[in-house]
Amino acid sequence: MVHISRDAVSLSRGEKVICKIDWEKRYMHMKLHTMLHTIDGVVYKKYKGEITGGQIFDNSARMDFDIPGFTKEMLSSIISDSQLIIDEGHRVVPKEITREEAKRIGGVARTAPGADLLEKLDTVRIIEIEGFDFQLDGGTHVANTNELGKISLIKFENKGAHNKRVEFGLS
Ligand SMILES: [Zn+2]
Repeated sequence: MVHISRDAVSLSRGEKVICKIDWEKRYMHMKLHTMLHTIDGVVYKKYKGEITGGQIFDNSARMDFDIPGFTKEMLSSIISDSQLIIDEGHRVVPKEITREEAKRIGGVARTAPGADLLEKLDTVRIIEIEGFDFQLDGGTHVANTNELGKISLIKFENKGAHNKRVEFGLS
């Protein structure tokens, strides 16, 4: 296993270190990641939108998307539709499946790099939000959507006709 440190540390070859996970930070990260998948699922399935970017911060997460005919009013229904999924308490399950299985499910790779990866790998890891969504993924998630709490809208930025940027939080 390789750990890449973001902070400058001076270590000498062969030196032993003890790594500890900052659980509070990690758990928030997991919740925000599952939140993004939930919103992504709603945007993709219900609004036929395309996800063009995303980023997880310490206490919020950003999503960029392109929805045909987007109006700002749609945002509140995207949030309430996503909240419904969260409150229904869907299990969140990581799975390894073959490329053929992934293609049969369809729509598991929603970004260009993801689609590229799907062509290169025989086996892929996906995150299933049971009864709702499948997405190609390499990150950490909670076990059930009911762990997330309430989605809040932090910021909306109109970055052009085909790019809306929204920051969401959890409370
Ligand atoms: Zn993900």
